[in-house]
Amino acid sequence: MSGLLDQLYRLQDRIRFVQARQKDRDTVPEDLSDIDREHRERVEAVQRIRERLVEAEAERRHAEGELADFQEKQKKYQGQLRSVQSSREYGAVLNEIDGVDKQIRTTEDRVLALEEEIENASEDLAAREASLPRETAEHEEKLKDWRTTQRAIDEELAAAQSEIREIEGQIPPRERAEFHRLIEKKGGLAIARVASGSCSACHVKIRPAAMQILKANREMVYCDSCKRILYWDGQGN
Ligand SMILES: [Zn+2]
Repeated sequence: MSGLLDQLYRLQDRIRFVQARQKDRDTVPEDLSDIDREHRERVEAVQRIRERLVEAEAERRHAEGELADFQEKQKKYQGQLRSVQSSREYGAVLNEIDGVDKQIRTTEDRVLALEEEIENASEDLAAREASLPRETAEHEEKLKDWRTTQRAIDEELAAAQSEIREIEGQIPPRERAEFHRLIEKKGGLAIARVASGSCSACHVKIRPAAMQILKANREMVYCDSCKRILYWDGQGN
């Protein structure tokens, strides 16, 4: 029993270590976070401009298609104007021509605006793309020490994860399942050390009878209050 509890306690310790260190690795230090955010924004801006350019090109093609249709209509009405029979008909066709002229002007304005936007965005994109590799290199240089720290953490993590796999391989499936169920349910703390006769997780005193079983190492003892597995390391009570 003692061997199993030692293993479970070590397993929990390693799991918590991995969680904490993963968080360390993924949290950019305060003094670098502004630099990191600025660079990320520059990278994202390039991506956004690229996407907008594709969209604007599509909008321009669509507007040009509409313009061609309106111009076609305009020609058709002008042809009709020459063959109308009455002044009423004449007025009606003129009305149509008036309407289609307005649509042509609006669409021409839209095409022009899109062309201007595309031209400006292309220039902006080219300038940003030209300086991005240098900016990225400078950014990586500033983050060099942090990257070294991250790699060291990755090595710690790999070692801890391999130890976790090793310990898990040694724990019987039933106890392993019970342990993981408790880890899930109890906020990552399935097994609690006994400190000064109390559960170190919830600080409730352990009954003398439970303490005796713990010391005799006969079976798993759970905290009466928080229901975690109790771990007594043989020191004091
Ligand atoms: Zn407890």
